Amino acid sequence: MIHIIGGGLAGSEAAWQAASRGVRAVIHEMRPVRPTAVHKTDRLAELVCSNSFRGDKLDNAVGLLKEEMRRLGSLIMQAADANRVPAGAALAVDRERFSQAVTDAVQSHPLISVVREELQAVPRDASSYPLIIATGPLTSDALSRDIAALVGGEHLYFYDAISPIVLAETINYDKVFRASRWDRSLRGSDAGDAAAQGAESEGDYLNCPMNKDEYDAFYDALASAESATVHDFDKEKFFEGCLPIEVMAHRGRETLRFGPMKPVGLPDPRTGRTPYAVVQLRQDNIAGDHFSLVGFQTQIKWGDQARVLKMIPGLEHAEFVRFGMVHRNTYINGPTVLRETWQTKTRDDLFFAGQISGVEGYVESAASGLLAGRNAAALVKGDTPRAAPRTTAIGALAYYVAHANPANYQPTNITFGIIAAPDAGSKKKDRKAATSERALQALDEWMRADLKVGPYSPANVGADL
Ligand SMILES: Cc1cc2nc3c(=O)[nH]c(=O)nc-3n(C[C@H](O)[C@H](O)[C@H](O)COP(=O)(O)OP(=O)(O)OC[C@H]3O[C@@H](n4cnc5c(N)ncnc54)[C@H](O)[C@@H]3O)c2cc1C
Repeated sequence: MIHIIGGGLAGSEAAWQAASRGVRAVIHEMRPVRPTAVHKTDRLAELVCSNSFRGDKLDNAVGLLKEEMRRLGSLIMQAADANRVPAGAALAVDRERFSQAVTDAVQSHPLISVVREELQAVPRDASSYPLIIATGPLTSDALSRDIAALVGGEHLYFYDAISPIVLAETINYDKVFRASRWDRSLRGSDAGDAAAQGAESEGDYLNCPMNKDEYDAFYDALASAESATVHDFDKEKFFEGCLPIEVMAHRGRETLRFGPMKPVGLPDPRTGRTPYAVVQLRQDNIAGDHFSLVGFQTQIKWGDQARVLKMIPGLEHAEFVRFGMVHRNTYINGPTVLRETWQTKTRDDLFFAGQISGVEGYVESAASGLLAGRNAAALVKGDTPRAAPRTTAIGALAYYVAHANPANYQPTNITFGIIAAPDAGSKKKDRKAATSERALQALDEWMRADLKVGPYSPANVGADL
């Protein structure tokens, strides 16, 4: 038997995967006994915000991840596909029907039980293991404290201050210049060179220069932009070190020019003059196709955010891979704590999955639960937990969480940037298609090697493992 704390996207998927392999699972879910600040129902796998599972095509990394999950018998994907609503190339769902479908499937499965209780500490008794902690970004306070004691307080974070990320190919390179403050730069190298050099150097900044008029217009738009109401629940004070840009703007017109938009040490090589203000972009992934806006964490509503950020010279036509946000987000430092199997480095039978493990997003949370559930079940059956191939999206995500740079670790979405591209020479569109094709082949081979117990059917229920 395995135990899972948290019946969200990750926990429900983990239980389903274990049960599909003939292993009993108990989910300990605190709702409705103890609510969270954002969940509204007592259903499992409730979607707390958007009803979108994002892109659903194979030219999109999250589309590939979803297809892999379907092939791996994901309950979350079955429920999502069965309850989809029209959303163009994205997969969006009827949120009520979706979480009801997951709840019904889990609660009616003969090998899964759901206990409605808050666990205030990580169980210490041997009978509670293998154990998967999947309590999400809003893990209750008592349990958060105990997890901090377990993994080390410095490896558990409570806030996510996320800066927006733009797609590199949508930046206008005629307007930006490459330099590091005080000229510690790789000036002259292009983004591809920088990526090849490992992208760790401070020279990897792109700078968007503003004159006074541009700054004033940007400031006025920022100061009057609408803040996201979805985060209003979070009344806590911000850390001074990661203030949202609009909070800084409200402190005064010049505050940003002495903060993240400080131009000193950044003369524009084309004019030799220091701009009035500068927005710096830093390469955000290994492939060099994502750049984040340095120090630009924000709570502005996404529509308004795009409008305001596109006023930055060079970003007029920017496509945003991720918008900025600031919210309560409990997550561990994955690279310090976890292995690629979602097991902890210190204990084979303790797993983390979902947002708390250091991933970002509904699909990524469910994907980590999927592999954690399989691997916890493998332990019960006397098998060895296995990592999925790094050439798959689901394997690349696990690899990234376990091996990324632990300094300033931030939860990650799946992107093609963290999956090694098969042929760097081919065109971007072909590369994505080739990456997806290779991923699905690798996954099929991996599954064939792994299939000792087939997916759930009434015939393989019964053994109380
Ligand atoms: C405000 C907010 C908005 C978000 N919006 C989006 C979005 O629009 N799109 C997106 O892709 N991602 C979004 N995310 C990120 C993330 O994808 C979701 O939070 C997702 O639900 C994470 O899945 P999970 O299974 O890790 O956690 P959850 O789905 O939150 O599940 C965790 C479960 O654990 C339970 N639990 C917590 N503590 C205990 C305890 N001590 N004992 C027992 N049970 C416990 C909770 O009640 C909950 O049911 C958002 C996150 C937040 C905080």
